[in-house]
Amino acid sequence: MDFTYAPAPESRSILDLKATYGLFIDGEFVDGHGTPFKTISPATEEVLAEVAEASDADVDAAVRAARRAHTRVWSRMPGSERAKYLYRIARIIQERSRELAVLESLDNGKPIKESRDVDVPIVAAHFFYYAGWADKLEHSGYGTTPLGVAGQIIPWNFPLLMLAWKIAPALACGNTVVLKPAETTPLTALLFAEICQQADLPPGVVNIVTGAGATGQALVAHGDVDKVAFTGSTAVGKAIARAVAGTSKKVTLELGGKAANIVFDDAPIDQAVEGIVNGIFFNQGHVCCAGSRLLVQESIAEELLAKLRTRMGTLRVGDPLDKNTDVGAINSAEQLQRIRELSDIGEQEGAGRWSPPCDLPERGFWFPPTIFTGVTQAHRIAREEIFGPVLSVLTFRTPSEAIEKANNTPYGLSAGVWTEKGSLILHVASRLQAGVVWANTFNKFDPTSPFGGYKESGQGREGGRHGLSAYLKGGDL
Ligand code: NAD
Repeated sequence: MDFTYAPAPESRSILDLKATYGLFIDGEFVDGHGTPFKTISPATEEVLAEVAEASDADVDAAVRAARRAHTRVWSRMPGSERAKYLYRIARIIQERSRELAVLESLDNGKPIKESRDVDVPIVAAHFFYYAGWADKLEHSGYGTTPLGVAGQIIPWNFPLLMLAWKIAPALACGNTVVLKPAETTPLTALLFAEICQQADLPPGVVNIVTGAGATGQALVAHGDVDKVAFTGSTAVGKAIARAVAGTSKKVTLELGGKAANIVFDDAPIDQAVEGIVNGIFFNQGHVCCAGSRLLVQESIAEELLAKLRTRMGTLRVGDPLDKNTDVGAINSAEQLQRIRELSDIGEQEGAGRWSPPCDLPERGFWFPPTIFTGVTQAHRIAREEIFGPVLSVLTFRTPSEAIEKANNTPYGLSAGVWTEKGSLILHVASRLQAGVVWANTFNKFDPTSPFGGYKESGQGREGGRHGLSAYLKGGDL
């Protein structure tokens, strides 16, 4: 039976969208000295606002403000006082959660049900969690001395969530920060700056500089930054590692991934299908830990793929602000181009391509949920991060073959294992070179749980007690 749904759009009226946005330095919004750039809604290509670009001098002003705030106020404040600010920020995030979710979906293209029910609640939870650590650092295992000024650079796929992962532990440990959001999704970071003002956070503790790669480079190269924390692509991560080599700067890198989602023949198939869909189509597959390689045991491949195709046929692609949307817009024209190119290569390499019939909107950037079957390990779609709603399906016969195939990647961020046998979960999980392994579930996040990669997926952990290590002198990185 064919269902038709009436549109159920979330209202934008809660937003106070400004025509232009400045930089947030020393507690104030100020003009930038670079060339302003436009940020658009990827679902409609509507220009949302013009945003300041931070020049080298602006980055310098932000770092100097952060240094002053660190020396004079933040590092001297008892942890119990810092905690009060973090708790206050967490509560304001909850109070303004609808505004944050609508703005995130508008600027990023992700479905409102994800920004509303996943991203923003985890953002608030992160601030609550690290607020709790601020006066207990002596139990962290990494000492209590902050590093100083942290330069933090984040990508566009989870703009607010990545901001929270960076800012909450840094502040809890007594550091001050200069954060650069991605150029396609700067708006929620600037709304967060307003929240810092609302929380009366001392000026200079959080500074937000907007711009593209050049602004990021200026931040990384700044001589008075003690710590560089980066989340983004492996290529840029390597460039940053080279830029800080030979300096005293500490660095953590959260980079790309190509996770294997391994389904054994005794797995609960319907549950596994939900996990596969969540693993690759959540956030349009713009997820570093996306389960982008499905490894399915040969004996159940046909049955599982039939069920997966049926389930994919029910996914609703469209307006990110519609509460019934499952798959939103691709974040940018450049990202769409990359997804198209790699998918075309998949076809040329001989893999079988399939998408459910779905009408894509005419304006904006869209790509249908897609699977490739008959993929081999040599195919580029099995090796490279596509970072879109595209799943590569491979098969295996034995647990050893599954482990060998799962580890046959330069990345090592995450993996999934689906089986009824606890012993098989332990056998496989302990042999996978991945920072996170989910069993009979996927994409589960909690602030208490460390997250990070092996190999080319980066170094360092975010979340949990381990996440403090990145911002204290006694830490590892
Ligand atoms: P990107 O590397 O192109 O950009 C990330 C950020 O770095 C942006 O803010 C960008 O402006 C900035 N930047 C670009 N060039 C720079 C330079 N030379 N010096 C300093 N900063 C620079 O990545 P992206 O396309 O925005 O994000 C997607 C990537 O992020 C994917 O590879 C994804 O896997 C990864 N990611 C990883 C995690 C994780 O926790 N491991 C989480 C989310 C995303």
